[in-house]
Amino acid sequence: MPTGFLDDIRATLSQIEADGLFKRERLITTPQSTRVQVGGREVINLCANNYLGLADHPALIAAASTAMSKHGFGMASVRFICGTQDLHRTLETRLAQFLGMDDSILFAACFDANAALFEPLLGPDDAVISDALNHASIIDGIRLCKARRYRYANSDMADLEAQLKAARESGARHVMIATDGVFSMDGYLAKLPEIRALADQHEALVMVDDCHATGFMGPQGRGTPAHLGVRADILTGTLGKALGGALGGYIAGPQPVIDLLRQRARPYLFSNALPPAIVAAGIAALDLVERADELRAALFENAAHWRAGLSAAGFDLLPGAHPIIPVMLHDAHKAQAMAARLFDLGVYVAPFFFPVVPKDQARIRTQMNAALSRADLDAALAAFEQAGRDTGVLG
Ligand SMILES: *Cc1c(COP(=O)(O)O)cnc(C)c1O
Repeated sequence: MPTGFLDDIRATLSQIEADGLFKRERLITTPQSTRVQVGGREVINLCANNYLGLADHPALIAAASTAMSKHGFGMASVRFICGTQDLHRTLETRLAQFLGMDDSILFAACFDANAALFEPLLGPDDAVISDALNHASIIDGIRLCKARRYRYANSDMADLEAQLKAARESGARHVMIATDGVFSMDGYLAKLPEIRALADQHEALVMVDDCHATGFMGPQGRGTPAHLGVRADILTGTLGKALGGALGGYIAGPQPVIDLLRQRARPYLFSNALPPAIVAAGIAALDLVERADELRAALFENAAHWRAGLSAAGFDLLPGAHPIIPVMLHDAHKAQAMAARLFDLGVYVAPFFFPVVPKDQARIRTQMNAALSRADLDAALAAFEQAGRDTGVLG
């Protein structure tokens, strides 16, 4: 290998470190849960996307192990050669029913679903209009397609309208608006009623990535569009968050869209089928989620209790009702010091700072889970107050 190559890589790594942006991974030695063991210590976990507490749920583990016995371990094939089991079609049909769509198509992850979506559906004569805060996978998916690209400032409806007009004036044939249902750094919901109205006015499609909502937002957990009483034309989502937290993504939408994606979507055609254990656990997750009003109530009760406690302690929170509750520290060093002190005090949280969020908006993003007990939350609140005083965040 030419020596210069690794020298350049090392220089980049050193720069990341010097900028204070190096990410270190902690080793968890227990299942993902409300409490996890890290480095031999038990800590309360407030940073998983485990909204309904299904990541270690016995029903999902049982479904996965039964499927492994009956359907084997791996598929060793893409879907269209010999990688489609009855289980895959059952999950696709169940997801479509759950989301009120004609059909759905599975991917290895929602990252792949978003990477797959745009290129087969939109050509050079079409346009895609994307929220500036959309998930990286939507940005990458749009980069991979030949449609004309427009971007609007996060949830800025005047800007969206201007971009719709610009796309129409450019003579675009089909126009698609792409948005996250929930913006994950803030826990803010997309303004879907306004987006839908503008889309209808300008004959555009609405695509919603609902990763941080499916399973718990809206009636029966059917997601942000259901929560806000609007229809999305195309939905993408993940099995890696509320629906069990393992792996797998999907696109749900009208039959011809799903049919064309099966023919043309590159991450579908050229990547392995999901393993049966994951698919069966996805079906079991939907069985639970469809009857999980109690879990959803517990999740939102936890979110309200946690918000009220942090607020009373004097922390600066972003407003909202989503179980993502960001504690604003503004300064990256403060966010890191606070997270480190919290870990000493037995609470596991992650600091977020530039470039993941804008400069001066460093924060600790806490996330609620239906399985957290009141005792867990009160212990975590006491730790936040202590860490806040120790780091000078609280006066
Ligand atoms: C988590 C997330 C993804 C990626 O999902 P995976 O299934 O983990 O690849 C995509 N979009 C959004 C909005 C997400 O939050």
